[in-house]
Amino acid sequence: MSKGILFVLSGPSGVGKNTVLDELFKNFDGVSYSVSATTRERREGEVEGEDYFFISEAEFKGIEAEDGFIESAVVHGHYYGTPKKFVDQKLDEGEDIILEIDTQGAKQVREKYPEAVYIFLVPPSLEELENRLDKRGSESDKSKNLRLKNARQELKEVHKYDYEVINDSLSDAVREIKKIIIKEQKRRDSK
Ligand code: 5GP
Repeated sequence: MSKGILFVLSGPSGVGKNTVLDELFKNFDGVSYSVSATTRERREGEVEGEDYFFISEAEFKGIEAEDGFIESAVVHGHYYGTPKKFVDQKLDEGEDIILEIDTQGAKQVREKYPEAVYIFLVPPSLEELENRLDKRGSESDKSKNLRLKNARQELKEVHKYDYEVINDSLSDAVREIKKIIIKEQKRRDSK
């Protein structure tokens, strides 16, 4: 039996990675979502074990010390990590997995899983990214400017990814990602 395919969806903060995946999963179950661990506060409506595993900094450090993450990063002042056990077990069982992680994390995954499929979600423009961060309303000016500055750096990394998807219209971006997943699955199945 062949191993599962690891898909990595990354891109700058505010580009809409989460929204795109939520929309994708509404009518597609061809890949399993890897739930990350984080030390940030749970937001209203988020479900433990579905959106994230919400853990303390001490717990996070403990898992890290036991090499329990395939990657981890500090994003906007909080720790985030991808649990290793779930990903490796599913891949070994031949199940395809998708990670939704920031670009620092994607860099680490690339070193360990060079055969994974890397998808970069880009905003239609930096102006539009700024609009989206404004709309989200959760960012102070300082934090927003930091995210925009980071985004400019992150966008320079796009050439390292296998696919670039522009998140202009949500439905187009979702369709594009679904197409990529199905194409890669067909390629694997024809081997
Ligand atoms: P949020 O807290 O808004 O859900 O996510 C903040 C950022 O952290 C997003 O860019 C998201 O992609 C990233 N993120 C979520 N989970 C992980 C993870 O496990 N590892 C890394 N490196 N980044 C993550």
